[in-house]
Amino acid sequence: MGVTADVPETMSKTVQMYVKTINDIQSAQEAARAESCLSHIERVELRSFPVYSRCGRAFYSSIASRFVLASAVRTDQTKGVIISSTSTVRLKIGPDIASFSSEEVDLVPSADAALVANVFPALHARRPLTIAQPVDPELAKQIPKAMDLAGEWWNYRPVDISVSEGQSAHDTAPGVGLFFSGGGDSFYSLFQGMDETTHLITIIGFDVKKSDTVRAGELRETAITVAEETGKIPIFVTTDVRRCRELARADWRHSHGSILAAVGHLLSDVLGEVRITAGFSLADLQPWGTHLYLDPLWSSSRLRVAHKGAEMNRTQRIQHVADEALVKKQLRVCWEYKNAGRNCGVCEKCLRTQMVLLTAGKLDGFSCFPSPDSLPERIGRLPYLKNPQIRGAWERFLAEDLDLRLRASIEELVLRTITHHTRMGSLVHGASTAPRRLARKIKIAMTAPGRRARKYGHVVG
Ligand SMILES: [Zn+2]
Repeated sequence: MGVTADVPETMSKTVQMYVKTINDIQSAQEAARAESCLSHIERVELRSFPVYSRCGRAFYSSIASRFVLASAVRTDQTKGVIISSTSTVRLKIGPDIASFSSEEVDLVPSADAALVANVFPALHARRPLTIAQPVDPELAKQIPKAMDLAGEWWNYRPVDISVSEGQSAHDTAPGVGLFFSGGGDSFYSLFQGMDETTHLITIIGFDVKKSDTVRAGELRETAITVAEETGKIPIFVTTDVRRCRELARADWRHSHGSILAAVGHLLSDVLGEVRITAGFSLADLQPWGTHLYLDPLWSSSRLRVAHKGAEMNRTQRIQHVADEALVKKQLRVCWEYKNAGRNCGVCEKCLRTQMVLLTAGKLDGFSCFPSPDSLPERIGRLPYLKNPQIRGAWERFLAEDLDLRLRASIEELVLRTITHHTRMGSLVHGASTAPRRLARKIKIAMTAPGRRARKYGHVVG
């Protein structure tokens, strides 16, 4: 592997290693791991690093004796062996540098990754997209198509692209990686592609911030447990990419799939295919950053970027995997984290997921949702739905056979949402009826309990 920056203007790479003095090697496993790391390294400079106390993983804590930190890059087998190495690739995105690190995999400083990651920042900033190093010819041909599609969906104006084409790859790595966050969509894709998937890729620095060590630790734990129980290899990639100013200004809903694909290109020494789970189903395709038409356009001759799971919608996907014991214990849907734990159990997404499971008759046994009080009480505490587009999902619950208290709590939530967004003048999407008319109908329904079910059936059915 290359360990220095031969192309610093676009990307660079460093490797940091934790090295153990050779006398301290305690097992054949450690020696084997050290040897495999050493085979990649050209030069190691050793300096004293007395205590190793990262992560608290059993492997490391059991051998927390004398370590030295090697801050670069030449083998000196008489002094020490490497027990852990972190490779970091830095990509220039607009005016900023984003770093991507992994302890499990040697990342590839890839011009393809730099190209893909710069597409949305360039579109948003309306500046030419230039990559100095040669990129994969197949990818180079597809980038204009991706830009056209994004322009058609979100009104980006075309920008000039300046890249030179390198050589096509002759072979691809054998691994198949699935982006895994622990949510219902991830689990669905994992179970659907169980035979082909070899690696689970979890990114720290997307929904869970790198600085949020508690959540990041929990996410790691989930991914490691699921990987162990399904016989997959976990890969963690830690990144600060969302701090890049141009990417932050571009809409993350448009660009997140391209950044997933960029991570895939960084992993292309190990993976020949990465899989991204669909946001929307085939029946409800909408412009989105991960999309059946867009994701494959980030592929190269070395890496296939595949879009999976669009045959079902989100509700169907979670219902499909809800009987799995692993899902009941490990499902992570929460990103608001209003309480400690894997899922807070009280935010809108936690409550909506529990409603999906409940209406499918599958909520029992889901120990991953804390339930301090009843579902209607928790729904009653949601002020309104911040995103008016998901109101349709809540309205659909009302078509189910619900307990009266639960039905009332959902009706009131829908009404509070309509009232709020009508007042704010922003309610335009996701409604099955014009907002004011629907609000009036719900008010009538709620003040006439005897006619409620019939009325509601008419409004939202
Ligand atoms: Zn939550």
